Amino acid sequence: MTTTIAFIGLGNMGGGMAANLVKNGYAVRAFDLSEDALVKAEAAGATRSTGAADAVAGADAVVTMLPAGKHVEAVYTNEVFGAAKPGALFLDCSTIDVATARRVIEAAVAKGFEMVDAPVSGGIAAANGGTLTFMVGGEDAAFAKAKPILDAMGKAVIHAGGAGTGQGAKICNNMLLGATMVATCEAFAMAQKLGLDPQTFYDISSVSSGQSWSMTSYCPLPGVGPQTPADNDYQGGFAVALMLKDLKLATEAAASVNASVPMGNAAEALYQLLANKGEGGRDFSSIIKLLS
Ligand code: NAD
Repeated sequence: MTTTIAFIGLGNMGGGMAANLVKNGYAVRAFDLSEDALVKAEAAGATRSTGAADAVAGADAVVTMLPAGKHVEAVYTNEVFGAAKPGALFLDCSTIDVATARRVIEAAVAKGFEMVDAPVSGGIAAANGGTLTFMVGGEDAAFAKAKPILDAMGKAVIHAGGAGTGQGAKICNNMLLGATMVATCEAFAMAQKLGLDPQTFYDISSVSSGQSWSMTSYCPLPGVGPQTPADNDYQGGFAVALMLKDLKLATEAAASVNASVPMGNAAEALYQLLANKGEGGRDFSSIIKLLS
């Protein structure tokens, strides 16, 4: 029997993810507030719904890919819980705060549903290509049911632990990414001021102890290392505004458990400065412009 999935939030990421579920044989019932998003989802083979509750009615599973915690909490509380069939599985793939993720999962479980938080690593190209990485929080049984659905949209699906640990993994990873990108940019800028050619510094540091993913897979300088958004005037890639969102979530989570994250805090302040300059839409490696 075909598994039916309600997919709510068909934006930059959700559109491609829903299309991959269709390609993998799932029946997808789509809902988004945007007419444009719904038209694209229909073109990809999903069925249009008139509202979130309409999409969820009769579905075996619900996938949400929404902007922030307030949207996720409102959609589940006001629409999904009341309309879902008994025993339905919920997967929230949005990047949201850990506290909201835990609260929504607790509420779902209390109502007899199973739910995982399953945020993603990888951008729009990975969502379209079905090559996302999912980090998943939730009970073992819920993870086992969620895995085949996530496999249809990604290349790696990793169980992080209990409810909320998927979001925890995501923001710790992105805090690390933000901090290493800032550090990589300041090192390149300083090396140049000390008279080093950027390519030469890359050749040395990429095989030395300062090497990181930010340097060798996402080099922030044009013409150095692999092809990256730096080669395209910092267009495309992972936007400053999204990095800033994740860093804010990280510092919020850090405060909730008294974790000391001075590097994360510094990265957040720098990305805030860049966003305030109107650069929120550029790739996050453009932070090098602040540091050169
Ligand atoms: P987006 O703004 O393009 O898409 C969000 C969609 O949700 C929009 O189409 C919007 O109309 C819809 N929406 C909002 N409220 C709704 C509601 N109540 N009911 C139905 N639809 C509603 O955002 P995106 O880039 O697709 O990101 C989605 C999530 O994925 C975010 O949490 C983001 O942080 C995360 N994420 C994004 C990227 C990326 O590169 N874009 C990468 C990793 C994770």
